[in-house]
Amino acid sequence: MPRRPARGVERRVAGILAATVAASVAAAMAACAHAQHGTPPRALAGTARPDTAMTAPSPMFRAARPRGVSDDAMRIFDGAVVIDTHNDMPTKMLDDKYDPDVRHPAGFGPGQGNTDLPRLQESGLTAEWMSAWVDATYARQQPDGSFARVTRYLDAIHAWVGRHPDRLVFATTAAQVERAKADGKVAILIGVEGGHAIENSLDNLRTLYARGARYMTLTWNNGNDWAGSSIGVNGTRTGGLTPFGRDVVREMNRLGMLVDVSHVSDATMADVLATTTAPVIASHSSARALNEHPRNVTDAEIRAIAATGGVVNVNFFSRFIDPAYRRADDALDATMQRKRAELMRRGPLDTATLNAELAKERRPLEASLPVTPLLVLLDHIDHIAKVGGVDHVGIGSDFDGVTALPEGMEDVTALPRIAQGLLDRGYSAEDIRKILGGNMLRVMRKVLDHAGAAAAPASR
Ligand SMILES: [Zn+2]
Repeated sequence: MPRRPARGVERRVAGILAATVAASVAAAMAACAHAQHGTPPRALAGTARPDTAMTAPSPMFRAARPRGVSDDAMRIFDGAVVIDTHNDMPTKMLDDKYDPDVRHPAGFGPGQGNTDLPRLQESGLTAEWMSAWVDATYARQQPDGSFARVTRYLDAIHAWVGRHPDRLVFATTAAQVERAKADGKVAILIGVEGGHAIENSLDNLRTLYARGARYMTLTWNNGNDWAGSSIGVNGTRTGGLTPFGRDVVREMNRLGMLVDVSHVSDATMADVLATTTAPVIASHSSARALNEHPRNVTDAEIRAIAATGGVVNVNFFSRFIDPAYRRADDALDATMQRKRAELMRRGPLDTATLNAELAKERRPLEASLPVTPLLVLLDHIDHIAKVGGVDHVGIGSDFDGVTALPEGMEDVTALPRIAQGLLDRGYSAEDIRKILGGNMLRVMRKVLDHAGAAAAPASR
């Protein structure tokens, strides 16, 4: 089967094949961590490592410890409600026959991934927001293409959670997430990515809410009829909200559904912030001051999101956080565009053959891209905490939606390294727990658990 161009959800726009990146270093580190610490299932609560058993705040389950993470950092991590606000594994379930129930090697190629049930269990994650991402192509199939597509995600995610009542629990509130922590289960929530999913219908929005979706990213890389995107693929809208777009935001406020400003244009961001009466989130966006990419948020936007009481959840994608990687990746893209043009000049090729040829050419080039140090990711967290306040930053990994991750952040089981990195920078245990999920929990409590009350003016 020809792989779709642009497999990674965050992958850019045009038809360059985003082929596999060999992640041998990361995979080796993961294998090492697992070999060293085993893979304690959640059911083994009470058989925790002796080094933390006496002092940790007695969670039901402790995460497997990645290499290089200290007792102190693990204690902080184990005591946190850890919430990741963006994960694209469902797209791999739908399109790549990815089996979420079995362990995969960490990586970006066929048969590899950043997330699956065994690794979620040992990750120590309390809650994972699974993305129901509607690709831009579905927007051209209106009526019904985009909404039908998002419905397939809801079906697939609910069915998956339903198969594992002992290990997963579907959640729509902060209270349910806290309950999952106490029960030693991983809470699964749904965020819809791409406002074209509702096909310009508030009724469709309400249906998504009724089926459990609790945030919606107003655009993807494509703008829609009522909101502009930061990228504007295929010449789609990049401006602000239309009057109907403001109605969408107000209806989300009324329902108790988080408004997600990741992917939107600066103009749409400004309109959302002027319209919303509830805290807004960026589910997977990093800091533009550190890497000039339109998908990242500016310092002014960080402050404005913080002023609503919301949270900017940092995206881990190397292209979004690391200028060195971005420049090398841009150069690689230019090379691939030339190769594509060359191949096309030689004669007519069917898409599958063309993509296969390009993938073959791309693979060795991708292997030469620089590896982003973990410190770069920590810089983004640190920056947003300093600009917006430590109460307004979180994590939105974008696992399984990207094609490159920082060294040591190869999959969901690597998250304790964030606790370690922040501890190394002098963050207090309390602040680290806020960043790992406490801040999102606060927003979820305010917006999701008190649906309807969100119509009151937002406050800090
Ligand atoms: Zn995205």
